[in-house]
Amino acid sequence: MREVAVLVVGAGPAGLAAAARLAAAGVRRVEVLDREQQAGGVPRHCAHGGYGTWLHPLTGPEYARFLVTAAQGAGAAVRAGVTALDWAGPLALHTVGALGPEVIGARAVVLATGARERPRAARLVPGTRPAGVYTTGELQQAVHLYGQHIGKRAVVIGAEDVSYAAADTVRAAGAMVVAMVTDLPRPQTAPARALNARLRQGVPLLTGTTVTELLGHGRLSGVRVRHHDGRTAVLPCDTVVFTGDFVPDHELARRGGLILDAGTRGPAVDGSLHTSRPGVFAVGSVLHAVESAATAAREGAHVADAVLERLAGAERSQAVPLMADPPLRWIAPNRVTPADRLPYVLRTTASLSRPVLHVTQDGRYLHRERLRAAVPNRTVKLTARWTHRVDPKGGPVRVTLTDR
Ligand SMILES: Cc1cc2nc3c(=O)[nH]c(=O)nc-3n(C[C@H](O)[C@H](O)[C@H](O)COP(=O)(O)OP(=O)(O)OC[C@H]3O[C@@H](n4cnc5c(N)ncnc54)[C@H](O)[C@@H]3O)c2cc1C
Repeated sequence: MREVAVLVVGAGPAGLAAAARLAAAGVRRVEVLDREQQAGGVPRHCAHGGYGTWLHPLTGPEYARFLVTAAQGAGAAVRAGVTALDWAGPLALHTVGALGPEVIGARAVVLATGARERPRAARLVPGTRPAGVYTTGELQQAVHLYGQHIGKRAVVIGAEDVSYAAADTVRAAGAMVVAMVTDLPRPQTAPARALNARLRQGVPLLTGTTVTELLGHGRLSGVRVRHHDGRTAVLPCDTVVFTGDFVPDHELARRGGLILDAGTRGPAVDGSLHTSRPGVFAVGSVLHAVESAATAAREGAHVADAVLERLAGAERSQAVPLMADPPLRWIAPNRVTPADRLPYVLRTTASLSRPVLHVTQDGRYLHRERLRAAVPNRTVKLTARWTHRVDPKGGPVRVTLTDR
């Protein structure tokens, strides 16, 4: 078994930021693995802008290169084409790469394995099994990494930010977007972006509409849709893209027996991003599928402090569960200690125009926070200004959402 100080699994924004910060803090032998042939994670195939900062806007591939260079420049070893397969011990992993299998042991492990979109089969969409069915990730890799032909007429399922990115990719590939389809009553992106797609690019948006069947033998020939009022229609197309509906890539966490949060389905973590296993941390989309790259990178940088404490032999604090009540779907982190300072991200199933978040523990009020809006599939944020009021020996902390 080869030993390193910190083993990071996943070289996306979260893992690379964690490695860069740890190496810059003087930790020797920080190693980041990625199963892809190139490090950088999802931004590698997001050919659009929207990454970097206001002052330094970058495309996805530029941002990926920037993060890889920063991690390597700080002294971390970034190894692409290496997959972590399973656990070989509490802090050791079986891996395989071009040089064959290897067991790597570490004093701390950071899981940064990202998230994936649920494919058509997982969404239980009936019909035939023709070619031409993609998720956004598959579509972007086909178009931007491999220059493949994707068809001529595409239907995009979903109307959130990632769905509009998928529609842009369809157009970049020279195909036409026949329609975007969402079962919600309105798009879940910035109004300007939705308006631009509808008016300037002429993409119809079918709201309150569900895909009920895929049609075609060999190649897709159409999708059957049903409006909430019961009307049905067939949209002729040769390509369909299932967007959004992300789930954390939690296979290693699950195989390792780490506690998973029932809401996010990623590993349960406290505000220092420590999982249920001492010495194993998790960051980025594996915790909350999917937030912005800036959030993932911020968590990567944040986890470094807790990893450094672990390497110095510090004891971890006791955390209590943090639970999100309906209409909230989940909250991350989902364990809390009085020392936690990382802001929380949440998701809701209901649209509220004057939303308020309430935080309580054993019937005791800890915090109340007004939000500007709460929309399904969009980020809802909660500050960590209240955590010092948490009783570490008390019951679960609950977060509820109401309309003012
Ligand atoms: C289509 C799309 C468009 C987006 N557009 C934007 C945008 O414009 N702006 C923005 O800020 N954010 C955007 N995002 C979100 C952003 O890309 C993510 O928040 C960010 O990539 C998350 O970083 P991460 O490191 O957690 O995960 P990822 O980027 O997913 O990286 C995880 C890495 O882990 C690797 N991995 C997984 N399992 C293993 C294993 N067992 N062994 C080895 N390696 C493994 C994967 O290969 C992958 O490279 C977009 C996301 C998508 C899907």
